[in-house]
Formats: sequence, structure tokens, C-alpha cells
Amino acid sequence: MKIKIDTRACGDPLDCRLCLDRCPEKVFGTYPRGRREPGVPARDWVIVPLFASQCTGCLECVSFCPRQAISVR
Ligand code: SF4
Ligand code: SF4
Repeated sequence: MKIKIDTRACGDPLDCRLCLDRCPEKVFGTYPRGRREPGVPARDWVIVPLFASQCTGCLECVSFCPRQAISVR
């Protein structure tokens, strides 16, 4: 499966979390765009399909995403 995420359309994934929580295979993860520094809270998080090889193509993520930011082929 090929999973694409429009990170600009997504906005703040930690505010939404629907794809993270709804994916039965827990394919998605998040990481901050900027550099991480000790003692400084990370900001500007983006969604990434960390475990795309586990995707079954169920399309739960696509149907729950309120911003049409995910495509799965
Ligand atoms: S299609 Fe299903 S298994 Fe694949 S990433 Fe989306 S929710 Fe997860
Ligand atoms: S469901 Fe859509 S808007 Fe929500 S975090 Fe995932 S990609 Fe972003």
C-alpha cells in the first residue's frame, strides 16, 4: 500500500489524532519538524506512515480524516 499524507492539510495532528487512534494496524506515528532539544518541548508535529507495510487497505484513516489529508492506494 502507498500512503500519502498532505501535512499542510492535516494541520496539527496531535490536536486531531483520528488517524493515529482509528488505524487498526497502528500504521501512523508523529514526529516534530524541527530539531529536538533537551528540555525544550517539541512543536510542529507531522503525521508519518511509519509502518506502511502493515497497512491492510481498510481505508478507516481516509474515511475518518476530517481534512481529506490521507490517500491510500
Ligand atoms: S488503510 Fe487502514 S490499515 Fe491502512 S493506514 Fe489506513 S486505517 Fe491503517
Ligand atoms: S485524521 Fe487527518 S487531520 Fe487528523 S491527524 Fe490524521 S491526517 Fe491529520
